[in-house]
Amino acid sequence: MLIRDATVFGIGDTDVRWTHRHITECGRGLRPLPGEDDIDARGGWLLPGLHDHHVHLRALAAQEGSVRLGPPQIHTATEFATRLRQADADLPPQGWIRGVGYHESVAGDLDRAGLDRILPNRPIRIQHRSGALWILNSRACDLLGVHDCALPGVERDPAGYATGRLWRMDSWLGGRIGAPAPDPTAIAARAAALGITGFTDATPGLGQDDIDAFADSVASGRIPQRLHCMAPPAVLDPGTERFSLGPTKILLDDHTLPSLDEFTARLRELHEGGKSAAVHCVTRVQLVLTMAALDSAGVRAGDRIEHGAIVPAEAMAWLTEHAIPVITQPHFLVERAAQYAAEVPDADRPDLWRLGSLIAAGVGVAAGTDAPFGGPNPWPVVRAAIGRDSDSPTTEAISTRAALALFFGRPERPQLARTIAPGQLADLTLLATPPGEFTDALDTELVAATIVDGRPVYLAG
Ligand SMILES: [Zn+2]
Repeated sequence: MLIRDATVFGIGDTDVRWTHRHITECGRGLRPLPGEDDIDARGGWLLPGLHDHHVHLRALAAQEGSVRLGPPQIHTATEFATRLRQADADLPPQGWIRGVGYHESVAGDLDRAGLDRILPNRPIRIQHRSGALWILNSRACDLLGVHDCALPGVERDPAGYATGRLWRMDSWLGGRIGAPAPDPTAIAARAAALGITGFTDATPGLGQDDIDAFADSVASGRIPQRLHCMAPPAVLDPGTERFSLGPTKILLDDHTLPSLDEFTARLRELHEGGKSAAVHCVTRVQLVLTMAALDSAGVRAGDRIEHGAIVPAEAMAWLTEHAIPVITQPHFLVERAAQYAAEVPDADRPDLWRLGSLIAAGVGVAAGTDAPFGGPNPWPVVRAAIGRDSDSPTTEAISTRAALALFFGRPERPQLARTIAPGQLADLTLLATPPGEFTDALDTELVAATIVDGRPVYLAG
């Protein structure tokens, strides 16, 4: 297949040909061979295919049937109660309400009793915007046997009764409710239309069944993109085309941090078993602990920091020296602006979602949407990275090219950019506009074609 008259990222005007999965020729004046399909790019910008380096596909697909119960849709306790009662009225008598996006700025530290006052009879589960917490009403707790569950994630009041707040218990909850895995077809198609050619699923604790189901979705084409999936060490690679296993996700919570010795031992065990670690770091203490543990355990290629929401200036040289990339979410500063303005202490502001200063210091940086906890569209991420202002003396805004390149990394080495050249995989995102008009185009009209593994998975109307 051939794309003619494109403006190739980093090269300029040229035509690009590929055969099967790999690019075979780049040059000017290439003409279609007999029987060869071609796309006239009309000067459109041709990019290495965008890879979303941090996303939660299943949670994103599950959101389709969920009720939004936090900002920007819901701001007050009254709006919250009204929306829940409306969802109840809209549903048949049987079945759950699944709420998402809750934040305590709406109605405080919600618990079982608070939800019972609004809707006592229908089982409700509501996910906190962080993804760390589910809040259930009493009906839901009874149905699932929460009171008898001995896992440490079950929050209890001083008398020992479950409060309905479940921390980091997604797998337990999923198993108990027994709902089938949501179909990823629609979200994958939407991502293809936005130019996404690959995903890294960063969900912690996926089991063999989850991984097999993901591989099956890729093999059947329900997910036409490439999928790199974080997984615990025991999970086996199903050996499917366009599917690969990634590092093991490690979650840290400030109130349950492991000791340095425990954390070091865990990293060492992962590395010895041939796995890298992707460590969730959203606070200063989480990053500092991770650096100390990696100093003791040693670094393995593929180790990475997820989020890096707070990176102190002193940490940047360490990250560069150890070649550990930070997988960042520049759009959170836009999506969560009101919350950050209210909650982030002045002392933390210069270190909040660093971007330009990380790149200037030589730290490897890549971007992920973190959908559904952030918006799933990569273009607002790019715009947020370009349009950043900064509370710090450092410049955090980056160029359009650098912002796009946040999505060019290899799935297994996010800090290493893929290029468009003979021998490279034909994963390509063709924009409808040339580079100069990029910033004026609307997201929905931006992408002309999305090619994965040499095959068009999206062509604009
Ligand atoms: Zn995440």
